[in-house]
Amino acid sequence: MNQLNAQFDLDHLWHPYTSLTKPLPCYPVERADGVYLQLEDGRRLVDGMSSWWACLHGYNVPELNRAAGEQLGKMSHVMFGGLTHAPAVELCQALAGVLPAGLDRFFLADSGSVSVEVSLKMAIQYWHGRGQPKTRFASLSRGYHGDTFGAMSVCDPNGGMHSLYKGFLPEHLFVPAPQSPFEGPFDATELNALETVLAEHHHELAALILEPIVQGAGGMRLYHPDYLKGARALCDKYDVLLIADEIATGFGRTGKLFACEWAGISPDIICIGKALTGGYMTMAATITSRKVADTICNGPAGVLMHGPTFMANPLACAVAKASLELLLASPWQQRIAAIEAQLKRELAPARDLPRVNDVRVLGAIGVIELHEPLDVAEVQKRLVELGVWIRPFGKLLYIMPPYIIQPDELSKLTRAMCQVVG
Ligand code: PLP
Repeated sequence: MNQLNAQFDLDHLWHPYTSLTKPLPCYPVERADGVYLQLEDGRRLVDGMSSWWACLHGYNVPELNRAAGEQLGKMSHVMFGGLTHAPAVELCQALAGVLPAGLDRFFLADSGSVSVEVSLKMAIQYWHGRGQPKTRFASLSRGYHGDTFGAMSVCDPNGGMHSLYKGFLPEHLFVPAPQSPFEGPFDATELNALETVLAEHHHELAALILEPIVQGAGGMRLYHPDYLKGARALCDKYDVLLIADEIATGFGRTGKLFACEWAGISPDIICIGKALTGGYMTMAATITSRKVADTICNGPAGVLMHGPTFMANPLACAVAKASLELLLASPWQQRIAAIEAQLKRELAPARDLPRVNDVRVLGAIGVIELHEPLDVAEVQKRLVELGVWIRPFGKLLYIMPPYIIQPDELSKLTRAMCQVVG
């Protein structure tokens, strides 16, 4: 096997959120199987990241390989304008059976960020259909919804994105991030700030967008289901749509198939992605109710104004359907409950470390938050030496491993986490 040209990578390839003049080190990976990433130098690392929430079954999964191979033999891609195909239809039928109630009108998009763009367009076009144009959005501080412009405009305004693109980004309304943690009592006064924004601005607000239960890239914050329940009730009270961004939380990660289930609510529009294809390729979806879809399509445009080249890519649809079947046929609830119990047990000692501010766990998500940001390059190097793949992020060291992880492999991850923050 040829070694990759690391210098070319350093000089020419941007990696996520990195500089080309002062790049952070990258580790050449040659292959991945099960819960292991194999580096070019032969080291095998236990994967704690599921490639950013996506590879929930691990890597090189026979069932998904088979689905991809069978579909490749038929067609990898055809345009979705004027054509349709079984992989798309069957995937959406299967998803309709498991999504929160009432969501069964699908737009298959090509990435999470694009699915968020589509959700914003749906909300705006819905209000055109109602004959009351509304074009602003409410969002939660510490939220993250993607990197395209519409998605960025509803991300936390203090992360640098807003100041960088000021003048170009639409300016929306931000509500303080939920404070009551997932476990423990709920302080109902938290909803007052949201109510104030909705009461004052509902005439111009197309929707409230939020990540249910877990605010991911904005700080791995786990908030109380009653906040979500209250947000749903307030959106109903003030006639504002609710968009749930389940791109990270969907497909079991929090212990429910979708995080909205913790609050027993259905949003008007939901975005899913990442684990949709088991992490095999890029695809996402924006799904709404019949009522919202009909209103959009009865509006002045008559159509939903979006249609990417790779919409409903058959290869991605076939793998996504196989991934959902594999998940539903697996004992995923027991697996996640076991991962959660082990994470709680094994990360608890980190609470007593002086550099540690908080430890939190929900489902197959384990987070250590420090007082000060970590040195990414240095900590990453130590973690690799300890035989694990965990990507530090600001003050956070967090994992969301593939659900197939075994107890000894998970212990290797938690031991490494506790060691590097000790
Ligand atoms: N929304 C949430 C909650 C996410 O976590 C992410 C990605 O991290 C996105 C949207 C954007 O998805 P993508 O990176 O596929 O564009």
